[in-house]
Parts: sequence; structure tokens; C-alpha cells
Amino acid sequence: MDLHRLTIHELSGMLKKGEIRSRDIVDSLFKRIDHTEGKIAAYMTLTRDLAYEQAEKADSLIKSGKAGYLTGIPIAIKDNICTKGIRTTCSSKILEGLVPPYDATVITRLKDAGAVFTGKTNMDEFAMGSSTENSAYALTKNPWDTERIPGGSSGGSAAAVSADECIAALGSDTGGSIRQPAACCGVVGLKPTYGRVSRYGLVAFASSLDQIGPITKDVTDSAMLLNIIGGHDPLDSTSVGTPMPDFTGSFEGGIKGVRIGIPKEYFIEGMDIEVERSVMDSISILEGLGAIKKDISLPHTDYAVASYYILATAEASSNLARYDGARYGFRTKNAKDLFDMYIRSRQEGFGPEVKRRIMLGTYALSAGYYDAYYRKAQQVRRLIKEDFDRAFESVDVIITPTAPTPAFKTGEKTQDPLKMYLSDIFTISVNLAGIPAISIPCGFGSGDLPIGLQISGRHFDEETLFRLAYAFEQSTEWHKRRPAI
Ligand code: GLN
Repeated sequence: MDLHRLTIHELSGMLKKGEIRSRDIVDSLFKRIDHTEGKIAAYMTLTRDLAYEQAEKADSLIKSGKAGYLTGIPIAIKDNICTKGIRTTCSSKILEGLVPPYDATVITRLKDAGAVFTGKTNMDEFAMGSSTENSAYALTKNPWDTERIPGGSSGGSAAAVSADECIAALGSDTGGSIRQPAACCGVVGLKPTYGRVSRYGLVAFASSLDQIGPITKDVTDSAMLLNIIGGHDPLDSTSVGTPMPDFTGSFEGGIKGVRIGIPKEYFIEGMDIEVERSVMDSISILEGLGAIKKDISLPHTDYAVASYYILATAEASSNLARYDGARYGFRTKNAKDLFDMYIRSRQEGFGPEVKRRIMLGTYALSAGYYDAYYRKAQQVRRLIKEDFDRAFESVDVIITPTAPTPAFKTGEKTQDPLKMYLSDIFTISVNLAGIPAISIPCGFGSGDLPIGLQISGRHFDEETLFRLAYAFEQSTEWHKRRPAI
């Protein structure tokens, strides 16, 4: 049987019954990886030996009856999440050779749950991008069409899940980096509420927006992973102690009477016609299941991209100041003196998009411009959050497309950063407001390219997202389609 094709919940059932061993899953996966990875390039680093070691431990744990549902399940990790003893590069040259001496909290939790690691996945350098083309190392291909991008910045994770090169993966989402690649690759991506999942050990891009979340083959797996990685962490002061329900318990009860808001600002002229049609059809399906549709307005939507690209770059310029070639990662070989070493290490170590953002952010924070840009963007952020607060007085969730188009062609937007930034037009507001959102497959455009539906909800109400997403998944077949790679 093709074990690599199955989900967490399917495999964990089989493991528990003793029908298969974790080792068999690892065998099946690495065979698959050997076959497809040359075409996809989803991974930065493969951890084959570690995977077998972990699988062996998992198998004895399962035998002793002490296993949880993640025991023995192979997971891929985005390369900006620190893994003790495993190279972590953020797909940047400046972190070349870095092997973290500690695990991120999410990694500790996965290990405690008995998960197996297949490797670290490719991404846009420091998670800055929407296509994974900004990686300093590799060009990841979309498994549905290898001439197209897998989305980004968690493109490696989404491609690995979609191509069955792992069972599930972790990504990070600052402005859409879990949801948009999930949409492009036809898989499920969840950005949890800001504060739901610890950021300890996630290499910081924009700390007030960054959040780790699962990329999976279906909604059940997404809930299962959130169960494990979510919850308060004393090592991250922004993680919140809000109670953690069993998210797989959210599915019961159907969606009768759930009020879904359709924001008029997201359905504008110029939107891709196939995306619009799929999303509209999906809304009808949800209505058929008993949800109640309401037109709403999020009036400050137009300002989201501008305010995000000021705040995110400002935070990035400060967070990335620490990479100076002195203590770890890349160091120039051509330095005349210490100061020159700092300058050249950064010059040679960072890629063009990262440099652009450091410059933009530094400018936005500099004396004289701070009030005009940074402060103003913070004020707009508040207005955007208040738009959502107001909307959630009359609806339970908000439905939009995840991305304005299906996956675009490699190279299509690399010369025009503004065009690239607009890929996040539907996902960014969610990060600014700190609310949770999930992207699920909701159709296919011409050329067999997946389309994603985004469901956003109230702070810490991932349960309602899961309930709706699960109900939709149960009555559609989109999530079952796999690329013919
Ligand atoms: N594409 C957006 C950016 O370039 C979002 C990236 C992310 O969520 N990490 O900033």
C-alpha cells in the first residue's frame, strides 16, 4: 500500500492496530521522496537517518501501548523553525552552516508526541515572499504544474504535503505564508490566532505577526496538529493561556445557523473569474448545509497591504540587525577590519528581497518618517482590527478567496515586487488583526490548478473554523485530488 499517500488519522489508526509500523511509513515516504524530490525540490535538508531512529523509538512505544496519535507519524518542518542538531537556514545564505543548539517549542512538543522528522523545507529567504523564489538555495516547483510556483513563503512545506513527500508539515504565516501556498498546492493550511502557538525558536521576521501552523492533507489532520503544538509556553511572552479544547471535537454538530460574512471589499472587479466562481459555489454549498450568508463590509481593507508592508518591514529591519557575521552563520572572507566585516557579511549574505525590506523598514522607522509611516500604519492596523471586531458582532466567520489567482508561473512576478506583494491581498488583514484563518481546497481552475477558500474567525475560535471547514470537506471531494507527479 502507498502509505505516503495517507493522512495522520488514517495512519495512526493503522499503527495502533499493529497493521503497520512507523518504519514502513518512513520507507514508503523516502521511496516517494527519491522518486519525486528531483522534480519538486521541496526540501532544504532531508533527515533520513534521524527519521529511522525516531521511527524505531516510536514503534517500541506503540508496542508498549504508550503511544499518542502522532507517535510514528512523519512530519516536515519549515526551515525557519529551530531544530537542535539539524541545520536551519531560513533559506538564507547568511545562516549558512547554522546548526541550532536548541529546539523550538513546537519541535519539543512534536518530539514529546513521538513524531518523526523527514526534514526541513525550502522557503522564501526569511519568509519574505509569496512564491518561494526568494530562497537562496533551491527553486521549489508546484506539484500540480512544475512550471508554476508552489506559493510562499512556506512553499516547500505545502509542496511536500501535496506531493506526498511527508504526511503533514509545519509552516509559518506572517502575511499569508501558510494559507497562500496551501491554496496553490491544494492542501489545508491553518494560521492560528496570534498567541495560540509559541513562537519560541521560530526565527523572527515580523514578531507581532508571525505565527506557526499546520499544513495538512485534510481538516482533521490540521486539528490534530494544532492540539499538539498549541497552548501556553512560558518561553514566549506573547503566547496566551487560553484553554486548549480538543480541536478534533469541533467537528460535531454540523453548521446549521452558522452565520458566514461575505465582505464586499474582497469581491472586486478584476478578480480571477475561476477563483470567484469556485468561492461562490462553495458559499452555496455551505448555505446548503444550513449556514446563513450575510453581506458585510470591512471598510479599511484597501489599506491592509500598505500598512502590512510598513509594519512587517520595520519589524524585519530590527529583527535582522542581529545577523552580522560575528558569531554564527555566514562571514565574508574579504573584510579589511571589523566594521567592514559587518558590512560585507550582510552585503554578501542577504538576498535582494531581504535587503529591500531592511531598507524600507529602516526608512519607515527613521527620525522624521516614523510618525508619517510607522505610527500611521499602526493606527491603520487598529482600524482594520476594529473592522473585524464589528463584523464578528453579526457573523461567526468570514469567507473570502485565499489568493486572487491560482499558482502563477515561475518568474512571472519576480521583476515586480509590488505585483508579488498583491498575492497576499486577501490574507494579510488576518495577520494584522491577529485572528485565525484556514485555507481549504475548494475547486480547480483550468490547467488543473487548485483554488483555496479562506475562512477567518474570532480570536481563539479555531473551533468554528474547523467545524465549517470539516462540514465543507465532508460534502466535497476537492481535498482528495492529488497531483499526477
Ligand atoms: N508574502 C508575504 C510577505 O512577503 C507574507 C510572508 C509570510 O507570511 N511570511 O511578506
